[in-house]
Amino acid sequence: MVYFDNAASTPVCNDALDAMNEYLKKGFANPSSLHSYGREAREKIDEARKHVADLLHANAEEIIFTSGATEANNLAIRGTLLPLLRQGIKLHAVTTAIEHASVTETLLSLQKDGLELTIIRPAKNGVVTAEQVLAALRPETALVSVMMVNNEVGSDQPTADIAKVLKGKGIIFHTDAVQGVVSHKVSAKDLGVDLLTISGHKIGAPKGIGALYVRKGVELEPLITGGGHECNVRSGTENSPGIIALGAAAERLKFRGANDLLTYLSLRDAVIDGLREKRVNAKPLLSKEGAVPNILSLECPGQTAEFVMLKLDRLGIAVAAGSACKSGDRDASPILLAMGVPKERARSVIRVSFGPQNTKEDADEFVRVLGEILAKRA
Ligand code: PMP
Repeated sequence: MVYFDNAASTPVCNDALDAMNEYLKKGFANPSSLHSYGREAREKIDEARKHVADLLHANAEEIIFTSGATEANNLAIRGTLLPLLRQGIKLHAVTTAIEHASVTETLLSLQKDGLELTIIRPAKNGVVTAEQVLAALRPETALVSVMMVNNEVGSDQPTADIAKVLKGKGIIFHTDAVQGVVSHKVSAKDLGVDLLTISGHKIGAPKGIGALYVRKGVELEPLITGGGHECNVRSGTENSPGIIALGAAAERLKFRGANDLLTYLSLRDAVIDGLREKRVNAKPLLSKEGAVPNILSLECPGQTAEFVMLKLDRLGIAVAAGSACKSGDRDASPILLAMGVPKERARSVIRVSFGPQNTKEDADEFVRVLGEILAKRA
């Protein structure tokens, strides 16, 4: 079995598994309880918060745990805009045509509350520019949301440049860094973002846990009200096992991230070189420089991605036909269409995404099997 769909979800890493297992055996207490069991659970959560903060070069008080990136993106956007919209203030937001649905759909849904929205299209390389963002700004722009790395094609967005053009304008800058943290050393402070989203299950923690970095001084209205957990921003008894796993995965990524990157670079080379050497009719959609090394979009001319993905699956190899986020959607990917890839070509693109557990043998096996599938169809 070769698992090359790590951008959809990674296996839980040993560090997270061990930390969570150990905690689950005795960490049953409510972290808000004042007895020693509860205090111990609270300490573990504080420790995990520190690990996540360290990964993002942030302060622990700036980390809010959520049920995942979908909730974190909702909290960032709705939490910023809704209180203002409710006061009848005229508001505008800027985003891109390549965001995850949890950003796009949230912003689109706020249009019924009066939000005006500008959606910037990327160039053919899947990248938007800071100049485009600057040109889209209006006096009433309150929020800009641009992801750090696109999850479908791996294109890197100029987050730091965008933060620079927004500096001093009083506009909240949110970035979905779910894929960004996989391949980049991220410093929320140096980047100059106000809000930054991460997800556990893309970095070796389980599903159902994520976090939002909220720069000190940024006010958010909670989506979930109740007992005032997470600094009054996200009520609900903490998912302590998930949080502890996320802390361990964040710590692992902080110390092993550079090694992971070397793994991705060599796996990507092995796949691209292997396909070329074996004359397999599949080619990268973007140049090596144009994408992060863990995400590789491959065009399979004359095939549908769905066919190739299902054939690979039958032969023990998991890849994605587009992103998994809109599963069941068999049409061409809106991200690829927004990049100007014609529909027929867009339908032929599979996404291969590597994880730290993958090996050169996985890459060789993938090249061999894809070669067989495509040769039969030629
Ligand atoms: N943003 C991006 C870029 C993603 O890839 C994903 C997951 N596909 C999400 C947000 C949503 O994350 P979660 O599954 O934690 O809700």
